[in-house]
Amino acid sequence: MIKNYRKTKILATIGPSSEKITKIEKLILSGVDAFRINCSHIADFQFKNYIENIRKVEKKLKKPIGILIDLQGPKLRIGEIENNMPLKRGQKLLLINNKKSSKPNEVPLPEEKVFKSVKVNHPIFIDDGKIKLKVLKVYKNIIETKVISEGILKSKKGINLPETVLKNSALTSADKKNVKKAIELGVDWIALSFIQSPEDIKDLRKICKKNVSIMAKIEKPTALNHINKITELADGLMIARGDLGVELPIQDVPSWQKRIIREARMQGKPVVVSTQMLESMITSKTPTRAEVSDVATAVFEGSDAVMLSAESAIGDNPELAVKMMDKIAHSVEKNPNYSSILLAQLEETPDSTPDAIATASRTLATELNSPVIVCYTESGSTGIKVSRVRPKQMILTVTPIVETARKLTLVWGVKCIVQKDANNLEEMIKMTKAYSKKEKIIKKGEKMVITAGLPLKKLGTTNLIRVIKID
Ligand code: PGA
Ligand code: MN
Repeated sequence: MIKNYRKTKILATIGPSSEKITKIEKLILSGVDAFRINCSHIADFQFKNYIENIRKVEKKLKKPIGILIDLQGPKLRIGEIENNMPLKRGQKLLLINNKKSSKPNEVPLPEEKVFKSVKVNHPIFIDDGKIKLKVLKVYKNIIETKVISEGILKSKKGINLPETVLKNSALTSADKKNVKKAIELGVDWIALSFIQSPEDIKDLRKICKKNVSIMAKIEKPTALNHINKITELADGLMIARGDLGVELPIQDVPSWQKRIIREARMQGKPVVVSTQMLESMITSKTPTRAEVSDVATAVFEGSDAVMLSAESAIGDNPELAVKMMDKIAHSVEKNPNYSSILLAQLEETPDSTPDAIATASRTLATELNSPVIVCYTESGSTGIKVSRVRPKQMILTVTPIVETARKLTLVWGVKCIVQKDANNLEEMIKMTKAYSKKEKIIKKGEKMVITAGLPLKKLGTTNLIRVIKID
């Protein structure tokens, strides 16, 4: 087996601590498979520079690297207040549809849609839930509230409305501009924040070219109500535990994490667990036991990727954080029960030919002691189908399309190589055999299980399975 082959992928957020070319290279060599660019924290189109730097390193290392652009979405904020405002439990507070305010009992909230959507008794959380309000009355431009959890209110803090369904799309006009530019620059994944319904994904799909994959960030309780349909329409899911932990009772987040991973795995969509995974490593060289356990849990649950946020974007030790994740994932994956735990969590398989072939390839590879399942794919779908059944063997995905290889960097177990377009299957197999022998993925006398869709150029047609012996 190839050295350092890891099933669970690492997605690292890029930022001031990791943007330099030399640093990006070090992070990839430490284990990063794909980078996330968070639009919430960067100036307009600053991502151009990030993307160019990542692609330069990709070229140098000759290894496909995924890039995910994370749109800010409709993050709501209060307006400006002149002085910090201490709020006492039980006091009344007015939210007014304005940019500024200087009255002691008034807070500006320049978000018209909130005034149209919020209802009596809805909770309003400010500053990651540090301050909690309850709605008493709603007027056209005023919301009267009562303070439930007190605290000191500061300008421009974010607000969360866990029970309110906002009458707006998750895609803002700023997001649309970013999507257009990011696609031009060649990103592979687009993450959509604060989605509420499947319609939000359709809205994004309309303005995307086909070859960009959409990741739905699950961070609102309203999205949980439609998790099945959202998973169906998206290409992947992100469990955005930061905002989810504000909008839901925090103790409910781990159960939802399990539920969302199960849904994603059932439907064969990659799923990323994100936020605060190694939070203390922003400043510390070592993580806490609880953080290590959290990453290990996500790996045991079969998530496709684990994510670093501030740890790699603004932290003191991005490389150490990546190496730590790499070590935790390797350790869990070596556990003799890892594979059976993953299989036990997969309840049923859709009855389609590609899914049946994926299951058959796992069975064949196991029966024949084959170290590798090879998937020929144009769109990536054959690789994703085989990944869905979580085989023990390496999933070597071979494609002539570099964008496909980049997309698959977030998919569990898939090692993807770009191989030049061949005229026929026999020629392709010959090239893959040579590569696998050279890379010590397989040795003489061993068998290789191969899946593909014929005709080769037709998308989503996994219909072939073959076994060949290495001579
Ligand atoms: P964010 O998303 O970092 O863009 O807020 C992740 C989360 O909410 O967990
Ligand atoms: Mn979020």
